[in-house]
Amino acid sequence: MKFFNTLGRRLEEFHSIQGKKVGMYTCGPTVYNYAHIGNFRAYLFEDILKRTLEYHGYEVTQVMNLTDVDDKTIRDSRAAGLKLQDFTRKYKDAFFEDLKTLRIEPAAYYPEATTHIAEMQNLIKTLFEKGYAYQSEDKSVYFSIAKFPHYGQLAKIDMSQQRIGERVRNDEYAKDAVADFALWKAWDENDGDVRWESPWGPGRPGWHLECSAMSQKYLGKTFDIHTGGIDNMFPHHEDEIAQSEAANGCKFVNYWLHCEHLTVNRQKMSKSLGNFYTMRDLLEKGYSGAEIRWVLIGTHYRSKLNFDLRSLDQARTALGKFKSLFVRLSQLPAGSAGVEEAREMTAKAKTAFGEAFANDLNVAEGLAAVFKLNKEVNSAVANGKIQKDAAGIILDQYRDFDRILACLDVDAALDSASASQRSSSEGNKPDAESAMPAEVTELIEKRAAAKKMKDFQTADAIRDQLKAMGWAVEDTPNGPKAVKL
Ligand code: AMP
Ligand code: ZN
Repeated sequence: MKFFNTLGRRLEEFHSIQGKKVGMYTCGPTVYNYAHIGNFRAYLFEDILKRTLEYHGYEVTQVMNLTDVDDKTIRDSRAAGLKLQDFTRKYKDAFFEDLKTLRIEPAAYYPEATTHIAEMQNLIKTLFEKGYAYQSEDKSVYFSIAKFPHYGQLAKIDMSQQRIGERVRNDEYAKDAVADFALWKAWDENDGDVRWESPWGPGRPGWHLECSAMSQKYLGKTFDIHTGGIDNMFPHHEDEIAQSEAANGCKFVNYWLHCEHLTVNRQKMSKSLGNFYTMRDLLEKGYSGAEIRWVLIGTHYRSKLNFDLRSLDQARTALGKFKSLFVRLSQLPAGSAGVEEAREMTAKAKTAFGEAFANDLNVAEGLAAVFKLNKEVNSAVANGKIQKDAAGIILDQYRDFDRILACLDVDAALDSASASQRSSSEGNKPDAESAMPAEVTELIEKRAAAKKMKDFQTADAIRDQLKAMGWAVEDTPNGPKAVKL
């Protein structure tokens, strides 16, 4: 497998430290608000990476931290008049709900900053012992970048051009403001009751320290892969490297992978610009987790992805086509015609798909392999070349693609098809709606909502989807009515 390592800015063959095991650390959310889909693009990239490693036989231990204490969580919990824990709880819960909706595989550990204060303080003690940490007049503790000659290796900073000895207390700062950064922030009145005792006085940890302490606790001093959005590279990841390598005297991470931004009108989606959608916003508009996932994973992680709602409508159409293909396959007559051809075309598709993702997560090529199979299968079905046994082999291949894609949903399509068949064979009910599967009712409602919002493209896409499921929609003076085809 090959990945683009930010550390050397080149594609590198992947070698894990320990056989088929991989340790992977992912910078998680700051839980002061709902995560937006730009954040989820980063988490989905990490999910695709993890699933790709698993597809190729690796066992991945993923750790994702939750930043539940920092300048923003403190500021907003105080504004809301809530205790920090009570304030962040709501956003932690929402985050896990969203991960599930997007079918992101759970990490092995989700350590929280507030429950790892002791580990962070121990790391500061080591940095003091080794001469990298110092306490300033403001009582905060800083990391001295002058003592760490490798500083700047990830972000490629020419340290000879920097003014050494400056200090920065904020967690976020720009590359041209490179400076000693805070390991421990001395308490001040803006922090309210958020404080922990320490050998350096009351205060709280800096953000960067969190990831160094937690990754070491769960993955060891050196581990395989560290990921994040590209904006995390500096200063956050540079500072993590400095802290961990200074404290442990060994390499921190072998492969650094960063994903590009999700943009809106070519601008980074961000809370501060206000140009963001949360998962809630999109679910309320009637889109599903699978549709959102399809859009966010469809562009290579190192390219910018410009988001607009139309792409979700296109996702609906694309996924609807898969669904009708699966239903058609499941309804083929019993028999073993076409088994050999099915074996051949699925084997080729599987190889091409696996190789594409192994090549730095090349999603375009991976999807090309899937679409090629669609085409071959559609033509085999149209020409009456395959029967049920061959269809079973083909459906299994789509289940296999879903180990990475996780949005084709073969079994959900087959379940809904057999439910609608059951209900239609139950005879002539006086009220057609009572025999209607819940999914059809739901789609009819979604179509009505789309029409109301004059979103005719979505309405038409839903009509097509219903047709593929065997239902026609008729608009009557009493509202839409579904009729079994
Ligand atoms: P934050 O909660 O701001 O620390 O961000 C959490 C993760 O989302 C980090 O890995 C960020 O780099 C990433 N991120 C933030 N905004 C975007 C965006 N517009 N596109 C892609 N990733 C993003
Ligand atoms: Zn981090």
